[in-house]
Amino acid sequence: MNKKIEKILYLPNPRGFCAGVERAINIVELSLEKYGPPIYVRHEIVHNPWVVKDLEKKGVIFVNELSDIPDGERVIFSAHGVSSEVKSEANSKKMDFTDATCPLVLKVHFEAKRHFDNGLHIFLIGHKGHPEVDGTMGQIPKNSITLLENEDDINKINERKYDKVALITQTTLSVDDTARLINLLKKKFPNITEPPREDICYATTNRQMAVKSIAKKCDAIYVMGGENSSNSLRLVEVAKKSGCKNNFLISDIKSINWEEMEEFSSIGLTASASAPEILINEFLKIINEKFKVKIKTNSIADENITFKLPKELRK
Ligand code: SF4
Repeated sequence: MNKKIEKILYLPNPRGFCAGVERAINIVELSLEKYGPPIYVRHEIVHNPWVVKDLEKKGVIFVNELSDIPDGERVIFSAHGVSSEVKSEANSKKMDFTDATCPLVLKVHFEAKRHFDNGLHIFLIGHKGHPEVDGTMGQIPKNSITLLENEDDINKINERKYDKVALITQTTLSVDDTARLINLLKKKFPNITEPPREDICYATTNRQMAVKSIAKKCDAIYVMGGENSSNSLRLVEVAKKSGCKNNFLISDIKSINWEEMEEFSSIGLTASASAPEILINEFLKIINEKFKVKIKTNSIADENITFKLPKELRK
């Protein structure tokens, strides 16, 4: 029998599901139990193909728009949040809905509305086209909010155009890149109103800090997460910027090149806030079959946050 190649596997903590994702998936599963299939969900409930396929098997139908839903059916809004227009559309169609928007995204919505009511122009740092950004921008009239994606966008701002301004951000950005952009924005607007507490959520921050803590020790890091998931993509970027040369975003365990892994003696494994632990367990099962693995865990924070379910689904 061939002697197995030895590997060190770093498992940082926290990793995987956050409280907002747990709540959103619970809302869908409890709705299936209470109302029976099919259950319609506008947009992927969270950005993870495993989660989406699993729910589809249980009777969930994911749609892009409310117009894709037959009359009389109820709908769930995804964890990323929706614009006021989408909620008004549901109300005007007399469509029952359950809002699975993460409470930490709702906090950003409230900030946007409060600043607007106080007459401030809002700068939102985020990624164009991401559903969370669409939902946040859609809380207030278009001309009262400007999306900033990068330094160029900030450099182009004509500060004389604005009187009172405020800053909010998407919840799943890179902590370090966003801090740089905020500093740049503050140079233009020293009196800009900032969020009372950071808008980047605890789960995004902790997962990035955890991956940073192992990056320099790893020849390669595997991030379990969806290709359209902002916090998964940011984890891969953070791993790279923090010193790990080979970084892989894995949305399907079948896509892993196990032969290539032979070259790496120390490996890191983590999962984004929308990726289930079952994917980590599948990875561990296979890597243990192929190599002689010594696991080293590294925890940088304890998480004990939970969010309440909507009243109608509480048991
Ligand atoms: S990543 Fe953060 S904002 Fe997004 S669902 Fe999780 S806790 Fe909420």
